[in-house]
Amino acid sequence: MIPFLDLHKINARYDAEFQKRFKAFLDSGYYILGTNVKAFEEEFANYCGTKFCVGTANGLDALRLILEGYKILGRLKDGDEVLVASNTYIATIIAIKQAGLTPVLVEAEASLFNFDLTALEAAINKKTKAIMPVHLYGQLSPMDEINALAKKHNLLVIEDAAQGHGAKSAKGKLAGNLGDAAGFSFYPTKNLGALGDGGAVTTNDEELASIISKLRNYGASSKYVNDYLGVNSRLDEVQAAFLRCKLPDLDADNAKRRLIAKRYLSEVKNQKLKLPIWDEVGSHIFHLFVVMVEDRDAFMKYMKQHEIGTLIHYPIPPHQQQAFAEFGHLSFPATEKIHKEVVSIPMSPMLSSEEVDRIVEVLNNY
Ligand SMILES: *Cc1c(COP(=O)(O)O)cnc(C)c1O
Repeated sequence: MIPFLDLHKINARYDAEFQKRFKAFLDSGYYILGTNVKAFEEEFANYCGTKFCVGTANGLDALRLILEGYKILGRLKDGDEVLVASNTYIATIIAIKQAGLTPVLVEAEASLFNFDLTALEAAINKKTKAIMPVHLYGQLSPMDEINALAKKHNLLVIEDAAQGHGAKSAKGKLAGNLGDAAGFSFYPTKNLGALGDGGAVTTNDEELASIISKLRNYGASSKYVNDYLGVNSRLDEVQAAFLRCKLPDLDADNAKRRLIAKRYLSEVKNQKLKLPIWDEVGSHIFHLFVVMVEDRDAFMKYMKQHEIGTLIHYPIPPHQQQAFAEFGHLSFPATEKIHKEVVSIPMSPMLSSEEVDRIVEVLNNY
């Protein structure tokens, strides 16, 4: 059996180092916002090339606190419209709603699984105040076009980088440093994953970083002095310790994912499977390798019979979710087609070349 993703295999590499760091954490007697969170924030900012990083409890809160921070700074206010691709993972939209803003869904297109750029520009009106591009599946959003539009219309650009750790633009800038601020998730399955929940905001805006570092900790500027109505959303100290072990290997892991993607793209030859488009540069970190297939149920059943795990990211588009009944009347044909046909095949830095051989063979025989 080749599982869809073997998280134990990914983390087993760090067994001894995790034990060592856990022991140091335990012995420190300091368990919240300690030396590991501070050090990780510096190391991750340094990695992304941003001036600041603020750890949060998860990726959803990272996104939400960016929006709350901009409200405090007077850049956003209740009801402002935020543009988001209609095929995103639900968390992006929840963050916008939780911050009291209005998500405006924009039709997607299936080559980059991102905004349809014509639809994006058409959606801009006087109430539009921000764009939230998502580097879905690990593929960078078309940031040059998005930033140009934002500049023209004076909009904030907030990256949802939860699937984009280490993705690099043609100009050499990394996800997290391609807009005004970015939210990351370190959920265990992400390319940089903790052993529990975790998240972070990256930005070059000192004021925003300072506000978010308060907001995540009850809005406190110092112990028991509260400047804002904040939340409890601190990056956990022990997760920060584990993330510090793994960060130095992120680029190497992403390179392994790209090698596997390269093999899939060159060796899988099956008209029934539409493979993702990739220009073979650093813009894709293959968080997921997503193919499109018309008879998805039959395909997944076939893969299961041949003992290869698959998953759907994601089966129901946000506008058809019960939680978002307000969008129920909307129609996004391209997005609906994506959700009907996408299926993710195994992708992990731990896949062996024999496993890739086997997956390719099974895919070609479908
Ligand atoms: C994982 C993810 C999130 C949310 O991160 P959590 O840490 O689970 O809160 C947000 N957006 C995208 C695109 C994600 O993949």
